[in-house]
Amino acid sequence: MFAEGKVEVSRDGKYLSTLAPGKVLGELAILYNCKRTATITAATDCQLWAIDRQCFQTIMMRTGLSRQAEYTDFLKSVPIFKNLPEETLIKISDVLEETFYNNGDYIIRQGARGDTFFIISRGQVRVTIKQPDTPEEKYIRTLSKGDFFGEKALQGDDLRTANIIADDPEGVSCLVIDRETFNQLISSLDEIRTRYKDELVERRRLNEEFKDLRLQDLRPLATLGVGGFGRVELVQIVGDSTRSFALKQMKKAQIVETRQQQHIMSEKRIMGEADCDFVVKLFKTFKDRKYLYMLMEACLGGELWTVLRDKGHFDDGTTRFYTACVVEAFDYLHSRNIIYRDLKPENLLLDSQGYVKLVDFGFAKRLDHGRKTWTFCGTPEYVAPEVILNKGHDISADYWSLGVLMFELLTGTPPFTGGDPMKTYNIILKGIDAIEFPRSITRNATALIKKLCRDNPAERLGYQKGGISEIQKHKWFDGFNWEGLRARTLEPPIMPRVQNATDTTNFDEYPPDSDPPPPDDLSGWDNDF
Ligand code: AMP
Repeated sequence: MFAEGKVEVSRDGKYLSTLAPGKVLGELAILYNCKRTATITAATDCQLWAIDRQCFQTIMMRTGLSRQAEYTDFLKSVPIFKNLPEETLIKISDVLEETFYNNGDYIIRQGARGDTFFIISRGQVRVTIKQPDTPEEKYIRTLSKGDFFGEKALQGDDLRTANIIADDPEGVSCLVIDRETFNQLISSLDEIRTRYKDELVERRRLNEEFKDLRLQDLRPLATLGVGGFGRVELVQIVGDSTRSFALKQMKKAQIVETRQQQHIMSEKRIMGEADCDFVVKLFKTFKDRKYLYMLMEACLGGELWTVLRDKGHFDDGTTRFYTACVVEAFDYLHSRNIIYRDLKPENLLLDSQGYVKLVDFGFAKRLDHGRKTWTFCGTPEYVAPEVILNKGHDISADYWSLGVLMFELLTGTPPFTGGDPMKTYNIILKGIDAIEFPRSITRNATALIKKLCRDNPAERLGYQKGGISEIQKHKWFDGFNWEGLRARTLEPPIMPRVQNATDTTNFDEYPPDSDPPPPDDLSGWDNDF
C-alpha cells in the first residue's frame, strides 16, 4: 500500500495513470502467483507498505479459522444449539454477522416484530419491560458476553416480549442470525450423508478383478489426450480385444517439481473408492521408476469441450442433460464430503452412450465434516470468489462452478473471462449481477445460474437445508427425468459415434511422444500409490 509520494503506472512503455497515497498496488499478486500486468515507477521519493502473498494468505486463513472457532465456541454455550452437531455449528458460525450498538441503543423493542436472534459477543445489555399506565420501563436483568436473546424468533414467535438496550459505555457487539438463514441451514445434514453406506462392496469386487494385472499386460493403441503430467493412452489387456481402458501416465519428477504429490495421492484414493455412474472409474494403479499410472474406464465419446467447440453452444435441453449428469456426480461426491474443485468442459468425458462423467480428480479433496480448505486451485474462469479471496472454501465452491458451467454450455463462453487470470479474477469479484446474460439464455436458466453463483457461499442453491435436491427441484429442471438419467434409460441429446472398443475418432490426434525421458525420482513419497 502506498503511503507517501507519487507513482506512475505504465504498460508496454505507455503511461496509464498516476497514483496518490492510500492506493493499493499489486493487490491481486498477493492472491495468486502470476506475472505483473503493469509497471509501477516511483515519480517522487515514495514510502510504501508491503506484504507478501504467503504472509497475507496465512493471516487470512488464521483470522478465518479463529473467527470460526470463536463463534463455534459461543454457539456451544447457547442451550438451543447445544445438541446440534459440531459441523452444523460451524456452518452457522459462518453466517453469523457481528453487529455493533452504541450505549443506549434499543437492540430489540417490546411489541415489535422481528426474526433475528442475538448472542452478545462484547459488552452488556439491559432487559426491560413496559409497565401498564406509566412510560417508565421496569428493569428485569442484565445480560453480558455469551448471553443470548431473541431466541423465540428462531422458533417462529416473532413478537418481541421485552426491550433489550445496549448498556455499556464502550458499546455492545452481538452475533446475529435471522430465522430464514437459520432454518435453511439446520436440517439433518447427516440424513444425506448416511444415504450411501455399503459403497465399498462393489469397489472391492472391481479391485479383485484387476488384482493380478501387471503393467506389462497392457498394450498401448493410441493417445487419447495429454494432461498436466503426461499422456493418457488407450490400452487393451493382451489377449482381450473386447475391452479397452484409458491409462494415464504421470511423470514423477514433474509431480515433485510442481509439488503435487499430495494432490496425486488424493486423486488415487478418491477415484479408487468412488463407485458412481457419473464419475470415471479407476481400476488399478501402477508405478515404475519414472512414472505413476492410473488404469481407468475409457470414455470413447471424447471430451464435452470438443463437442462444445464444434457446436458453438448447446440448447437448453442439451445443457440440462449434461448439467444433470454433473449434479448426480456432485450429489455422490458431496454426500461423502468430497469437494471436486475442477469443473470445466475439459473434465467432462462422454462415454459411448452419450452420458457424461467427471474425470481428473487432481484437485478433489475429502474434507472433515464442517471444515473448509484453503488451497488455491481450479481453472481461473471457474474459481469461486472465496477461493480468490482465500477465505476458505468447501463444497459450495462446486455449486458456483456449476453455475459457470451452465453459462458456458449455453453460450460457448464462461461468464467471467478476462484477457489473463488477473483480469478474470477481478471480474469474478464483481459478481454475477454485473454480467450481461444473452437473450438466448432462458429466464429459468438465468434464475438458476444466479442462485448458484451467489457471492456468499452459504446462500448458494445446493448448500442449504435441502442440499443438492434444491437444484434438482429448480424450475429449470421441471419435467426432467431424473430417474431415467440414473437408470441410464433417458436418451442423451447427442449420441457419439463409437464403433468399437478401439475407436478413437472422437479424440484429437497426438504426435508420438518425443519428450526426453525424465530423470529418476526415488523420493519414496509414492509408497501408497
Ligand atoms: P487428464 O490428465 O486427466 O487431464 O487427461 C488428459 C486428457 O486425456 C483428457 O482431457 C481426455 O481427453 C483424455 N482422457 C483422460 N482420461 C480419459 C478416459 N478415462 N477416457 C478417455 N479419455 C481420457
